[in-house]
Amino acid sequence: MQALTAIDQLARPQKLYQPLTQEQQDLFTQAMQQADVWHKARNANYAKLWVGEQRPSIPVGLFKKLDLATSVEQEGQWLSSSGTGKTGATEVFFDKGSMQRITQGMLALFIENGFYSSQPARFLLLSPNPQLGDFPGYATAFLKFTAAAPNKALVFAVNPEAVFDAELAIKTLTTWAQEPEPIFIFGLTVFFEQLALALPQPIEFKQPIKGITGGGWKGLTKTMERGQILQRLAQNLQTPMLDIRDMYGMTEHPLHYLSCPLGHFHQPVYSRFFVQGANQQELEAGEQGLIRLQNPFFASIPAHDIVTEDLGCLGEHCGCGNTQPYLKFLGRATTNEGICAQEALA
Ligand SMILES: [Zn+2]
Repeated sequence: MQALTAIDQLARPQKLYQPLTQEQQDLFTQAMQQADVWHKARNANYAKLWVGEQRPSIPVGLFKKLDLATSVEQEGQWLSSSGTGKTGATEVFFDKGSMQRITQGMLALFIENGFYSSQPARFLLLSPNPQLGDFPGYATAFLKFTAAAPNKALVFAVNPEAVFDAELAIKTLTTWAQEPEPIFIFGLTVFFEQLALALPQPIEFKQPIKGITGGGWKGLTKTMERGQILQRLAQNLQTPMLDIRDMYGMTEHPLHYLSCPLGHFHQPVYSRFFVQGANQQELEAGEQGLIRLQNPFFASIPAHDIVTEDLGCLGEHCGCGNTQPYLKFLGRATTNEGICAQEALA
């Protein structure tokens, strides 16, 4: 894997949210160029998308229509995206090297956001066990996030038919409330809503609870906004600290981002966030457009510069204290709103 040196260097654990030094800027540029060379040499379909020396930004939907896999010689694992109705899901191959960089990158993201415990913790997953069926990538992502601490316990409160088992979730939380270990709850926002609605009375906890919502975005849950869900959970999960963050990511992009407490996705050192207008022009902070993401960790697909189907805007000077620019997710740009949450309920 000598060809991926700059990319591997970029993926090394480091401080993620400090103002970029010239050296870090240069390393990012080198790593992106290395990804260009790597994919162009091994992927004829991708090479055809280049116009001269201009790197194409790949619309994320193109991965569903065109075979854009870059051949890699390593073993790995196939994961699928949540799919968008008629066009179906994208299958993405995670080779060992890519997986290693992604795991390293995600661990650093979790540590920097305070979502890491060296003490054993208990995990309640509001998503199906990905080992029991063929589920969209989010199920695997949530399971991988349990690397945030040594696992004292792991319970899936959503069955393989994607039905939330409220009774199991409440029984589990009630039992764990008596124990000293920290609790993590990860899952689709729609299931957090179902949990919030199902809790019959407040449960008192001695330990902090940290949660990550994702997959079902604002407006996609059946009745409540994310803010209302969190408020209701806060009333019924009485703990010294309830910290529930949002997640943004997709199977075609190597990383999933954790929001800050104010719901903003800050740009880490190994990625670049852009928002672009109708003519693909780069927009200023505060202007609404399509989210474009750059990160060169994948060797198996040329996804280092993609344009998503999500609307967002960039921002600066977040009130949380993180000095790095951030991305605000505003919703899906397509009419297939909430496909992930809808599939979970189907
Ligand atoms: Zn912030």
